[in-house]
Amino acid sequence: MSITGSVLVVNAGSSSLKYQVLDPVTEEVIADGLVERIGEPESAVKHWYRGSQTRREASLPDHEAAIALVMELFEADGVDIADSGLAAVGHRVVHGGRSFFEPTLITETVRSEIERISPLAPLHNPANLIGINAVGALLPDVPAVAVFDTAFFSDLPAEAATYALDAEVAREYAVRRYGFHGTSHEYVSRRAAEFLGRDVGDVNQIVLHLGNGASASAVRGGSPIDTTMGMTPLEGLVMGTRTGDIDAGVVFQLSRVAGMSIEEIDVLFNKKSGLKGLCGENDFRAILDRVAAGDEAADRAYRVYLHRLRRYIGAYMIELGRVDAIVFTAGVGENAVPVRADALAGLEGYGIRIDPDRNAVRSPDPRLISTDDSAVAVLVVPTNEELAIARAAVAVVSV
Ligand code: AMP
Repeated sequence: MSITGSVLVVNAGSSSLKYQVLDPVTEEVIADGLVERIGEPESAVKHWYRGSQTRREASLPDHEAAIALVMELFEADGVDIADSGLAAVGHRVVHGGRSFFEPTLITETVRSEIERISPLAPLHNPANLIGINAVGALLPDVPAVAVFDTAFFSDLPAEAATYALDAEVAREYAVRRYGFHGTSHEYVSRRAAEFLGRDVGDVNQIVLHLGNGASASAVRGGSPIDTTMGMTPLEGLVMGTRTGDIDAGVVFQLSRVAGMSIEEIDVLFNKKSGLKGLCGENDFRAILDRVAAGDEAADRAYRVYLHRLRRYIGAYMIELGRVDAIVFTAGVGENAVPVRADALAGLEGYGIRIDPDRNAVRSPDPRLISTDDSAVAVLVVPTNEELAIARAAVAVVSV
């Protein structure tokens, strides 16, 4: 079966690789898959192609081996990916630094530049590059495009992008706020405006991307004026395993008093904190069940999560001055009915009224969950980063 004109979207993590083949025009998802535990003895691949699912356990020493296995699975489906008429490969790249402000065709120079800025995102960019190289080796004739998580925020106003740090040090080491999840914030803010039947340039909105990673942004007329993630995706909201905002003094304390190394603190803040650190769990469904059952640790974690979220909603209401829409997206934002209700509870005085029946509706489509007399439209807009990456990649290669 032909997949001509489709895009292979690749999201390579340090030990995982997510991929999707989709048609950027019809939005049809043709294939979807996830390779996990790359580099460990028992790697696993979940591959889905036009309705049929394959699972494979294998020992995949590196990303090259992972991608070679994915190609084999496509062959078993009767698809020779290298000769299938793919329009492009779109790679998610986390950090574009001050070098990349838009989706970019990957050349040798671009590859070196992504490598040069890798110290800004040591957990992400090297893995993204490995994915770029491994796919490039197997599909040398398909144009590849890098789509950067930071790009949407590249024009953040200086007052939102600048840390109050010694200016020389900041300049020397490129320390500033970059923002992440940009592909999602951009896609969702446009879909929200479309849903409201308005030009995105006329809409002021607060976008809440609440997944395992979480970030909020204030978007004025289609351009972000602030966002919660900073130089790295650690800043801001409480996340599944990340602290979000934390006093930098905690680093000094843990180093001086607890004798922890910088690497240990990095792992603690990024992987063992957030909801998981507070209650031992980062699956929001389980946390909500525990809250309902009266579990004290889960209840505290939930309240800390909401407190931080509401603090930013308030800050962005002030920054925007006029808010037309508040938009929930990603795993928690799209599915967790109580989170949406609690995040905006008691804000009727600010023109924000959620309709409990509308909020309870489950649907894969964009939807309004505020009352008809709410001055601010509250929406749920499912994100689709793969589609956004595929469209961006095609736009670059069609120029
Ligand atoms: P994401 O990173 O966008 O895939 O989101 C993952 C998060 O969404 C996890 O914390 C999940 O527990 C959460 N999630 C997914 N489905 C639901 C649901 N039905 N109710 C509550 N949380 C959910």
